[in-house]
Parts: sequence; C-alpha cells; structure tokens
Amino acid sequence: MARGSAIRRRFTTPPAGWARLEPPSNAYACNCLILPGEVAVHLQANENSRFALRVENGKVLLFEDETPRVEVTFPEASAYYQQQTVAGHPFGSIAVLEGRSTLAFFYLWSCEYIKTRETCSFCFQVMADMAGYDLPSPSNAEVAEIIGWAVANADVQEVQLTAGTLFASQIECRRYAELLRTMDQTVGLDRIKSEIYCYLTAPNNPRDVDQILDAGADRVGHDLHVWNAELHARFAPGHARHVTRAGQLRALEHIADRFGPNKALSAFVAGLEPLDDMLAGAEYLASRGIVPAFSVWMPTPGSVTADSRPPGLDYYRQARREFARLYKTYNLNPPGAPAGSQVSLCRDIYRNMDAILEP
Ligand code: SF4
Repeated sequence: MARGSAIRRRFTTPPAGWARLEPPSNAYACNCLILPGEVAVHLQANENSRFALRVENGKVLLFEDETPRVEVTFPEASAYYQQQTVAGHPFGSIAVLEGRSTLAFFYLWSCEYIKTRETCSFCFQVMADMAGYDLPSPSNAEVAEIIGWAVANADVQEVQLTAGTLFASQIECRRYAELLRTMDQTVGLDRIKSEIYCYLTAPNNPRDVDQILDAGADRVGHDLHVWNAELHARFAPGHARHVTRAGQLRALEHIADRFGPNKALSAFVAGLEPLDDMLAGAEYLASRGIVPAFSVWMPTPGSVTADSRPPGLDYYRQARREFARLYKTYNLNPPGAPAGSQVSLCRDIYRNMDAILEP
C-alpha cells in the first residue's frame, strides 16, 4: 500500500466525528488506517491502486483487486486539523498526528541543503518547501502550544521532533535544547506519557548532542537512511558529503557510550537498497546498542525515486524477521506509542517479536 489506496467517493465525506480522517481538500491532511493487530498504515488517495477501501454493512473493508481482505479501523476523531496557533498557523502546517497517539513535527526549520542542491531524493519535506508550500518555521512557544493542545485533546502520548539540516550543527543542537526547556516550562515534559525524541543531523562534535538529552529528550536519532555507501551518496548527497558516514556513526556511538543502549536510533528507508546491505547496517548499529528503525518508503510523485518499484513482500518479510531478531538479541526497544507511527514498521515488529521469530 506504499503507493496509496483507491477511496470510493462515498467514503471521502464521512460524517463529522466518525474518525480522524481529513478530506483531500485539506492540504495538510495526514491520514492513516489501522490494520488488525494495531498496525498503523499511511493512507493516501490513489485511484490507480489495486487496493481500495469500501464501506459494506457499516464496516470499512480493505479490498485487494476486488477481493475483500480485512476490516480496518481508524484513529479516534479529533478536531486537531481545525486548530490554528495564536500566530495564525494551522496546526497541520507544523505537525501531524500519526498512528493513534503520535504527534510528529516534520520540519521545524528549513533544510540548508536546498541552497547547495544536495537534498535527499526521498524527502517530501524539502519537496514541499521547494514547491512553495507555506511551511512555517514555528517559534518554540508555538510548538509548545500545539503539544499542549494535542496532549489535552487528542490523546497524544509521544512527540517526534524533526527539522531540516543546518550547516552549523551546533546551532541545531542548541535550538532543540532550548525548545525542550520551553516545552517543559509551558506544557511539562512529564505530561508526554510515552516519549519524546529528536531527529537531527549528526553534529561535528558528538558531545553537542548531550544538551538535548540533558534537557529531557528520551532519545536522539541520526538517520543513516541507506547503508550502501554508493547509494547513500546518490540518495542523500548532502549527508554523504558534509556529515559523512563516519561522522554519523561517531555521533551515534557517542550517545550509546555516554547515555547507554536504546538512547540513539537511526532509520533506514526500506527498499532504497538491497536487503543485505540494509541488514548489515542494522546489525552494526544494534550490536552497539543503537536502535535501527525501519521506515516504509513511499515514493513521492515527482521525486527521482518516483518511478522506482518499492520492494515486494519477500523483502518486507525477511527484513521484519531480521529486525525482530536484532531487537530480541540486543534487547532493543524502538519508539512508538500504541499502533506506532504510520511511516515505520518498527513498533509492529517489536510488539510481535516472539511470534515473528517462531520457527
Ligand atoms: S537533510 Fe533532512 S530535511 Fe534535508 S533533504 Fe535530507 S532528509 Fe530532508
């Protein structure tokens, strides 16, 4: 379903309050469905998909090629996407709800790789930025305002902070630490029941990241995206040139050494590289106490990867089994409140680890 589902017309205007489901007319809509087993899946409309959602006898069924497969559900209805900050920005232009209870800030500040044309080819945030979408860089108070509302009104239990890359990596670290302090003063970090984690560019000086964990983040992520060096340089040219693979690993290993296992994480985008390469990278990280995460690659229309074929089921099955083995072997616990995020499979893998590993 990485390329979306057909959604029958009758289904695009559900009664208000029925589920958290925004109409396609909302430019900031971020929808998901929940498969049996509490697996959150990103939902985007694609009338050419072989998957379709239909309502039958009051139930929503997922069809594959006209065959009903499973009944699906949706997160609880929420007025989140109707909210605006005091400064007048729609909440959805700054952060989206994922799964049942994750609030994900997707672009706290602009990515400077746009200036040098070294953006990552799978990154939808910079594509939206370059396409002229109005993506505000929110103030710390605005971020705290959104979190406070979402914790009180949308059952948010987990907060994910993501931003674009700055060439001055020490500024990224300082900004995150200041933001966490503002959040603590105005919302209270202890009101975020599950966890809060920050994705940022690996800093030149790995110790710069300490202030983020000291300010209350539960973990820090430096994404490798792909392990294969040649493909890394092709898909993430800015990272490969300015941060370098060695720099990313040095920063991740510093966090694991100083703060212990499960404090650093790094996501791979499944399908961008051969499975063996991704698994070699995941094993390298896991054996050092760094959580490898498993993102679902959803080719963005217009990106250089848009015409590539996402991997087949065998790829996902093998990757799922190997990630389960790594989590079990190295006692690792990936992020994800109930149902996890709709763009990552790691929570589903962790929750079903023993069943996946049964012979
Ligand atoms: S560095 Fe981050 S924000 Fe910039 S293009 Fe790559 S993934 Fe996107």
